[in-house]
Amino acid sequence: MNRIGHWIDGKAVPGASRRSGAVFNPATGEQTGEVVFASVDDVSRSVAVAKAAFPAWRATSLSRRAEIMFNLRELLDANRKEIASLITAEHGKTIADALGELARGIENVEFACGIPNLLKGGYSEQAASGVDVYSIRQPLGVVAGITPFNFPAMVPMWMFANALACGNTFVWKPSEKDPSVSLFLANLIAQAGVPAGVFNVVQGDKEAVDAILDHPDIAAVSFVGSTPIAKHIYETGTRNGKRVQALGGAKNHMVVLPDADVNMAADAAVSAGYGSAGERCMAISVVVAVGEVAEPLLRAIEERIPKVVVGAGDDPSSEMGPLITREHRDRVAGFLDSAATEGATLRVDGRTAKVPSDGFFLGCSLVDKVKPGTRCYDEEIFGPVLSVVRVDTYKEALDLVNANPYGNGTAIFTRDGGAARQYQYDVNVGMVGVNVPVPVPVSYYSFGGWKASLFGDRHMYGPEGVDFFTRTKVVTSRWPDPSTSKVDLGFPQNR
Ligand code: NAD
Repeated sequence: MNRIGHWIDGKAVPGASRRSGAVFNPATGEQTGEVVFASVDDVSRSVAVAKAAFPAWRATSLSRRAEIMFNLRELLDANRKEIASLITAEHGKTIADALGELARGIENVEFACGIPNLLKGGYSEQAASGVDVYSIRQPLGVVAGITPFNFPAMVPMWMFANALACGNTFVWKPSEKDPSVSLFLANLIAQAGVPAGVFNVVQGDKEAVDAILDHPDIAAVSFVGSTPIAKHIYETGTRNGKRVQALGGAKNHMVVLPDADVNMAADAAVSAGYGSAGERCMAISVVVAVGEVAEPLLRAIEERIPKVVVGAGDDPSSEMGPLITREHRDRVAGFLDSAATEGATLRVDGRTAKVPSDGFFLGCSLVDKVKPGTRCYDEEIFGPVLSVVRVDTYKEALDLVNANPYGNGTAIFTRDGGAARQYQYDVNVGMVGVNVPVPVPVSYYSFGGWKASLFGDRHMYGPEGVDFFTRTKVVTSRWPDPSTSKVDLGFPQNR
């Protein structure tokens, strides 16, 4: 059995703990590996080496750190296929989807290549007579990243690219469900020139996470995962004096106005609802059909569903792979049971679709006439299920989205620029698409939801990522000038 351990101080290490978890190939249902869970001591060791590596890494010139990011970008590019196969083997998503995840992740490394420019401070000459004021950005020290199963390469890159480029040292706790890619990335990071101890990986579960949250030498924690855990991370981490950004779950609504291009909206709903088997935090999970668009839109979605090819991610003809675990597949199927008893109409039932019999597969489902207050609407399903809520007006659609506790992403489909602009103005959601169903910001903006989709005040990656992984210091300076020197006990004046 393939044993997946940690990466500490520049090398792979098995770790001291006897606790471990099974890793599966979701397309076959077979166990392919065993991941070692870090003990509190393993976490402490990784933090100690990261702490020891910090002074030299922080002192490394910006040009050298940028050069290392360029090296990493080239190594990631050269290893795209291998990384994508590792992702597919443990996550289940198609190779094309894994390559897409990687491409969006690499964009964060490309952004971090510009670190000398990103860390520029401000300078005000002559703030007072002979006095200059300037701001500088400094790294925080040892920072940690805790990541979910659904983007085992991209989400960590959201974090470590900026964290390292800013001069921090890093401890990463990947998801225990698809851990292998973390060791492959750690190896590339070392090859790129990142010194031993600067980047470390500890595998594990709650025990490792709690050890990170409790460790006094970790200055900041960046987390992505489900809302209950995000809340726990934020509350515990901040209580322990750490800077924390914790991104949570989602329920993303796609509002389709009566004037929308129905075919374009149906293509978008199918792609964004069933892509990656719905296991994306920016997946569309609720279609809000306004007025008479509902019936033609549902028919157009229904026509497309049977054409979605469900199969193993490493089969090039597959468009949708399996779910991550058997338990999760069964949980998602359970929403279809409750939909029928809660008054919704199951227009397409993924449980009856023709899918491979081994592995954790489920076909695409379309549930009509879903209402708030039912499980299908209220809970994050995180599977290939599109719920449709029918409303009569734009105002009802807007009120529905704004009343939802989550606020990660949303999209509006319309030909009316004024309506789209009004929606962008009115909606309480962090990322908005106009005729774009999955509006994940490019790496030079920042990613983050509102409400229960984000705990903390800084979004992930891009300029806010640089803010998160640095703190500013403001220096007020005067150089000795005997001609202006005198004793003055008054409060310093600038005018
Ligand atoms: P999860 O919350 O179960 O796990 C995330 C991380 O937390 C993992 O590393 C896991 O080991 C750890 N963890 C799990 N239970 C824990 C506990 N009790 N105490 C401490 N740590 C714990 O999430 P997941 O199932 O891996 O990922 C799917 C979830 O992530 C979905 O809710 C999805 O919406 C969300 N997600 C959000 C974003 C975003 O940007 N907002 C992006 C991707 C995924």
